[in-house]
Amino acid sequence: MAQITPLRCPSCGAPISTQSTRCVYCGIELQFGLRTQENPTIACSKCGKRLGEGTWLCPKCGTPVPGNEERLKELHAKEQYLQNDIRMKRQALSSLLEPSEYVEFCFWLGSRSYYAVTEKRLLICSESGLFPGEMTVKRSRLGIYKPEFANSSGEIQSKYDWKEVVAVGSAEYRNNYASPRFQVEVQTLRGSFFLNFNDSDTLGASRIQQEILAALNRHASGQRDIRALIWSLKFD
Ligand SMILES: [Zn+2]
Ligand SMILES: [Zn+2]
Repeated sequence: MAQITPLRCPSCGAPISTQSTRCVYCGIELQFGLRTQENPTIACSKCGKRLGEGTWLCPKCGTPVPGNEERLKELHAKEQYLQNDIRMKRQALSSLLEPSEYVEFCFWLGSRSYYAVTEKRLLICSESGLFPGEMTVKRSRLGIYKPEFANSSGEIQSKYDWKEVVAVGSAEYRNNYASPRFQVEVQTLRGSFFLNFNDSDTLGASRIQQEILAALNRHASGQRDIRALIWSLKFD
């Protein structure tokens, strides 16, 4: 089951944990991991937004606050690394992305599916494939069933099927006797499918549903993610 952080920085919207004392993306100080510091003392030199003390980057327009270049350079390099990592590992995803499209985050949903949130859309992926040593039974054109083994070289042969999400249903309990479970219906541009959770994972199912909904709403409102701003920063 994927680990999800529903807490977001109130200034820039990046995910934060209850242990955070400072947002790792915009630099703002957080109290009890949730509240921003009161009394904004500085104004963004470009757009004029009032910024809390200690902020590194304007969450509205992405202009760095003078004196934080080193810290931002470090974050920029880290973001670049993460983006390249996602691109290298996920060729199937990469082929769907536009050249400048930014992947905000990517994580597993259960054992064989995961999703990626980009600045433009939410993509969901079901992975099918064979792992070393695994066996499947395939039916040939002549109607003969024979076992097939995964690549003995140890290479994982996976097929990633990415779809763009347009809507998500609520977490619903399904009991078909053999396997009681929670299901979340996800509608995509290429038909709908169900994410399945075992019956002890009610919370996981409804959090996934809420997280997908939040991502869709954020996309609909055109809100930018601060990580996209860091990714686009240029340093000499
Ligand atoms: Zn922040
Ligand atoms: Zn600004």
